[in-house]
Amino acid sequence: MIHIAHWIGGAERAGESGRFGPVFNPATGEQIAQVDLASAAEVAGAVASAKEAAKAWREASLSKRSAVLFKFRELLAARTGELAAIITREHGKVLADAAGEVARGLENVEFATGVPHLMKGGFSEQAATGVDVYSIRQPLGVVAGITPFNFPAMVPLWMCATAIASGNAFVLKPSEKDPSAANWLAALWAEAGLPEGVFTVVHGDKEAVDALLTHPDVAAVSFVGSTPIAKYIYETGTAHGKRVQALGGAKNHMIVLPDAELDAAADAAISAGYGAAGERCMAISVVVAVGEIADPLVEAIRARLPKVRIGDGADPNSEMGPLISAQHRDKVAGYIAAGEEAGATVITDGRKADNLPEGGFFLGATLLDDVTPEMTVYTDEIFGPVLSIVRVDTYAEAVQLVNDNEYGNGTAIFTRDGGAARRFQFEVNAGMVGVNVPIPVPVAYYSFGGWKASLFGDTHMYGPDGIHFFTRGKVVTSRWPDPGTSSVDLGFPQTR
Ligand code: NAD
Repeated sequence: MIHIAHWIGGAERAGESGRFGPVFNPATGEQIAQVDLASAAEVAGAVASAKEAAKAWREASLSKRSAVLFKFRELLAARTGELAAIITREHGKVLADAAGEVARGLENVEFATGVPHLMKGGFSEQAATGVDVYSIRQPLGVVAGITPFNFPAMVPLWMCATAIASGNAFVLKPSEKDPSAANWLAALWAEAGLPEGVFTVVHGDKEAVDALLTHPDVAAVSFVGSTPIAKYIYETGTAHGKRVQALGGAKNHMIVLPDAELDAAADAAISAGYGAAGERCMAISVVVAVGEIADPLVEAIRARLPKVRIGDGADPNSEMGPLISAQHRDKVAGYIAAGEEAGATVITDGRKADNLPEGGFFLGATLLDDVTPEMTVYTDEIFGPVLSIVRVDTYAEAVQLVNDNEYGNGTAIFTRDGGAARRFQFEVNAGMVGVNVPIPVPVAYYSFGGWKASLFGDTHMYGPDGIHFFTRGKVVTSRWPDPGTSSVDLGFPQTR
């Protein structure tokens, strides 16, 4: 049995709490490792080590920090396959998808290599006579990241690249379901020359999270996970005086207008609905078919489903892997049953799929038609390979559905009408919008974030918002008077 330890002070550190969590290979259903679960005291030790490291790291020049990021980028690019294999083994997603996740994380590292430019402030000469004013951005100190199971490398990279580049020490509390990617990243940072303690990993569950949320030396918490936990993180962290950005769950709608290119829309629905077995916060879970395209669209999606190759993610022939756990698979199957019960038409039933491998946490791809907004398959984030079709008559009804939804992470429209697409972009209430693009995850030099129950806080993740989140502004007003020009003036300083 592999033992997964913490990473503190630049090296692996075995836990002392006596508590462990099981780690499974979802493709076989076997437990392959156990991970240490930190106590509050162990978290305090990790934060103390990070605090020491932060003091020295903020003194490191911008070019030194940038050099470490460049080195880290080179190592990560060269060893993507190694990390992808670790992700597949513990998460279950197929290797190509895992490599794609690493590639999207790599983008964030590339963005952060530009830290000398990103940390630039402004300068106003002669703001008043003989007075100059300038702004600078400074790191916060120790910052924490708490991440979900579904992107065990990309989401930590979203956070740590900008946090570290901007001069902070970063403490990661990864998902306890697939924790090995975090330790692999820690070792890579060390190899890239990052000083000890600037990147720390504490494994754990609620106890470790609560310890971070309440620790006085943690200045900021960046969180990605489900909406109820995101809300809890935001409320608890801010109540303890921290800066918090907490990204939550999603229910992403893809609107297909009658003039859309049918095959492209069906391909997109399959890719975005069933990729990573639907365990993506940007997965499409609802297709809103407008008008007469509904029948041919449902048929086109149905016809494609049997061709999706389900299997162990480590097999290069597999296109869709298992779900993260047996409990989660059963919960998703329960949603399909509830949808059927509530009157949805089950076009393809993943519970009855005959092409599933033995042993793992597999569930077949499911397509539900005639779904209505009251059904739990519509209201809840299922986070599995279940695509719901909602039929509406008009574009206006389709947009209303998206805007009335509790979540507002991503959404997409499929159409050949540029005017309709522009109107959609203008009036839809979601943070990330795709036009004939089903998964509009922003490139690293923009920022990622949803609206409504998909994000608590106001700054989005990575990109310019990431630099802003992990730094605070300071404005300096300075005068260097000529000798002999000094005088007493009790009036309020004015700029003329
Ligand atoms: P989760 O909320 O269960 O767990 C996320 C993190 O919170 C983990 O590190 C976990 O250990 C911790 N946690 C869990 N329960 C806790 C509790 N009671 N108190 C304190 N900490 C707790 O999420 P998950 O199942 O790992 O990930 C899937 C969810 O994440 C989905 O809802 C998905 O939409 C969401 N997600 C959102 C985004 C986004 O960018 N908005 C990206 C990826 C995933």
